[in-house]
Amino acid sequence: MDREKIEGRDHVVRGTAAGGQIRAFAADARELTETARQAHDTSPVATAALGRMLTAGVMMGVMMKGEKDLLTLQIRSQGPLQGITVTADPHGNVKGYVGNPHVCIPANAQGKLDVAGAVGEGSLQVIKDLGLKEPYLGQTELQTGEIAEDLTYYFAASEQIPSSVGLGVLMDKNNTVRQAGGFIIQLMPDTQEEVIARLEKNIRGLKPVTTMLESGLTPRQMLETVLDGFDVEVLGTAPCRFYCNCDRQRVEKALISIGEKEIEDMIREGKDVELNCHFCNSHYIFTPEDLRRLVDRSDIFGGVRCMSKAKVLHDLYEQCRSIEFDESYDLLKEARDKEEEDFFRVVTDFILRQKQKAVVREKRS
Ligand SMILES: [Zn+2]
Repeated sequence: MDREKIEGRDHVVRGTAAGGQIRAFAADARELTETARQAHDTSPVATAALGRMLTAGVMMGVMMKGEKDLLTLQIRSQGPLQGITVTADPHGNVKGYVGNPHVCIPANAQGKLDVAGAVGEGSLQVIKDLGLKEPYLGQTELQTGEIAEDLTYYFAASEQIPSSVGLGVLMDKNNTVRQAGGFIIQLMPDTQEEVIARLEKNIRGLKPVTTMLESGLTPRQMLETVLDGFDVEVLGTAPCRFYCNCDRQRVEKALISIGEKEIEDMIREGKDVELNCHFCNSHYIFTPEDLRRLVDRSDIFGGVRCMSKAKVLHDLYEQCRSIEFDESYDLLKEARDKEEEDFFRVVTDFILRQKQKAVVREKRS
């Protein structure tokens, strides 16, 4: 066993094989799945579904190249689980939630947790925010609802990349997570026929992910098993974790955005307001006094705080246009500090340009 396994630390391994014709990812995601289970108090079948999505998310996150890229995987479906949402970054951070964390349904015909039954029919969406103007968006219909097969289909149909995805979550008797992990194997364009044939043979003979993890295989060994007969080159190993970047400040921003009138109504009710983060289920409590402070602090435009910022700027524009040229330089004397003086200078320049345009128009006519 390697060091990471002994320390029990989750990690993703990235590699290639067959001279770069295959790229491969594998992850141990036991701890992050258990963290998610505890945060959301998920039932065993909900834990299995969420754990599979988190494992896929963390590997697909690592596939992205840009520092600030962001991946969102979303299943919108009819089953009792009411959908799954996961987001991941390229640094091994992943977070997510299911619509109904407490769903309980009978085991499937094989006596296993019925993830497909909990998920139901629906679609899989992949959104990649790569810092471009528009995010990349891919969507495919769910094939089985078991998630690994749905992702395999997604890669083929939407990204035209032949792939093999294996995901697994094994629960302990006390309903904590015993094992979680998976792999993604992808074929690059122009892969040789014999490479494909060998890989297909390997995958047909492969044991389930949970069996491999349970027998003590690390992600690296899992890759070597899937890619048996190929020279596997490991390109990197990175720790991964369940991590949410929410904090009180972000929640305050969201609260302010619902509008001052609504917050005033809450203050009048005199009760504490509790907001929960979807992704990590952290609770944020605001007392009426907290809300009052928020409203006062959001008062960035002084006496005009009921107006939208756009309205304030529209009004400012109209006011500036009406300032006479002679008056404009007096403005500068009125400035209270250097910053305000700079702002007034911009306004003065604006008025000056208006004046020049008017002079040109007059001359022409
Ligand atoms: Zn959060």
